Amino acid sequence: MEASEKEKKSLNFIETIIEEDIKNHKNDARVHTRFPPEPNGYLHIGHAKSICLNFGMAEKYNGKCNLRFDDTNPTKEEMEYVDSIKADVQWLGFEWNGQELFASDYFDQLYDWAVMLIKKGKAYVDDQPQELISQQRGTPTRPGIESPFRSRSIDENLALFEAMKRGDFPNGAKVLRAKVDMASPNMHMRDPVMYRILNAPHHRTGDTWKIYPMYDYAHGQSDYLEGITHSLCTLEFEVHRPLYDWFLDELIDTEYRPRQIEFARLNLSYTVMSKRKLLELVKNGVVNGWDDPRMPTIAGLRRRGYTAASIRTFADRIGVAKRDNTIDVGLLEFSVREDLNNIAPRVMAVLDPVKLIISNYPEGQTEQIELINNPEQPEAGSRNIPFSRELYIERDDFMIDPPKKFFRLAPDKEVRLKGAYVVRCESYELDDAGEVKTIYCSYDAETRSGTGTKNPKVKGTLHWVEANTAVDAEVRLYDRLFNDEDPAGHKEKDAMEFLNPDSLQIKTYCKLERMLADVQPEDKFQFQRIGYFCVDKDSKAGQLVFNRTVSLRDTWAKMNQ
Ligand code: ATP
Ligand code: MG
Repeated sequence: MEASEKEKKSLNFIETIIEEDIKNHKNDARVHTRFPPEPNGYLHIGHAKSICLNFGMAEKYNGKCNLRFDDTNPTKEEMEYVDSIKADVQWLGFEWNGQELFASDYFDQLYDWAVMLIKKGKAYVDDQPQELISQQRGTPTRPGIESPFRSRSIDENLALFEAMKRGDFPNGAKVLRAKVDMASPNMHMRDPVMYRILNAPHHRTGDTWKIYPMYDYAHGQSDYLEGITHSLCTLEFEVHRPLYDWFLDELIDTEYRPRQIEFARLNLSYTVMSKRKLLELVKNGVVNGWDDPRMPTIAGLRRRGYTAASIRTFADRIGVAKRDNTIDVGLLEFSVREDLNNIAPRVMAVLDPVKLIISNYPEGQTEQIELINNPEQPEAGSRNIPFSRELYIERDDFMIDPPKKFFRLAPDKEVRLKGAYVVRCESYELDDAGEVKTIYCSYDAETRSGTGTKNPKVKGTLHWVEANTAVDAEVRLYDRLFNDEDPAGHKEKDAMEFLNPDSLQIKTYCKLERMLADVQPEDKFQFQRIGYFCVDKDSKAGQLVFNRTVSLRDTWAKMNQ
């Protein structure tokens, strides 16, 4: 986009707030955001939206963006997830400010602040079990009940909290709660839990801690410690904002304050997005791991053949809103199709091959056919591919008894072989199962594309691969994992009941033009007339594996018409 065009694009509501803050010299006119994943799963396309937003705002306003792991729950978090998250953010094209950070780095400071709140009479140790505490919270229209431990003395609270830290109590025996207001209309302000006892080793702090801070207590203070100015999060945290501010007001007396701003999370049609559901797909073996090309994870999209640029463009297109909505997954597919159309070299591949023999073409002769690599990119040049008497074409490009509008090959019909000659089907041979085994054609040497003297009008042009030089490959045809628009949105039925049984189809006997013998994982191509494909990480020389990223057109849109 031209600079002037970009400026003309109106500001989104977050940009408006940031520009206002800069104008008012709030927090010294700094812009410092953070992306705060919990390392309990792989990142998905929803996180990509948040990443593009947080890093994008920092970039746009010459600020910084931290990567902070919200690792306050040791029971669900793993180093594998930390590593995958770092790799995904980098792959998307973003660089975080300094080292990656962890909420666990602040456990000591958070503990000291908790002690400070106790000393102020603003926090207390509650001995009641979690269920009772939940019951006593009341409902939005009915005030909560104060805990009998709410009026404990400061000294007793200090001693008990220290004992909790020491590990004197079993899991769940006690919690530390903020003393806010049990009658608040905001349920999150009804003496929320700040610390719980969890005798579990932490992926970074090991056995040091027996108590762990809750998200609501850790998050705002972590923002503060890092000098975050704009803490962007999804809408469900809107009701947590008063608590976010309450902790800071109680603990901090500086002018500087981080500000929480909420935006609508990304929902995609035909997709489940929550990490819990994605983990279920992995654990139950519905997919082959977090990076299965059908997963909406960043690792899955990458393996599927999505480019980082197409995901960034998609995030830009959907923008940020204040109300929840669902984006058509077709828009994501459109974004990658558009990018691949520009960058992917065109090649010929036959996924379901049938032999075609040109009976009147000299045996043993081979000629070179020049094909351009990418019509969108003249500088991509051209290549030569061999043509000879024996070729492969796509099985469904031939019909023995075709309907009227079938413009491909059939007995006594003519088609052009792309870049080469016009051929006419003279006969065919069936195998024992009654399937077409070989198609016999004749050709006219004067019809060669570009140089021939004859150019008979034919309606169809077929892609083909020369038989002797063809390389074998396995091609995995991926489709949407769910066949329902909102798989997680049914009250009575689980999302797993809407799995698309045809989400993976494997073609094991494909024939590709010879230049594809030498490819690397993640290389991307357009298989002409078929779709966009990339080399899978399982691919090895001699045992090539390709994934279909998307078909050339949106086949689902057509189906739904
Ligand atoms: P999920 O609910 O999908 O399991 P989460 O919110 O628990 O994800 P976190 O690791 O806590 O995952 O999220 C890190 C950041 O990404 C948070 O700021 C969160 O608001 C944001 N985020 C998560 N899901 C989405 C989404 N679908 N769209 C936009 N941002 C999201
Ligand atoms: Mg979360």
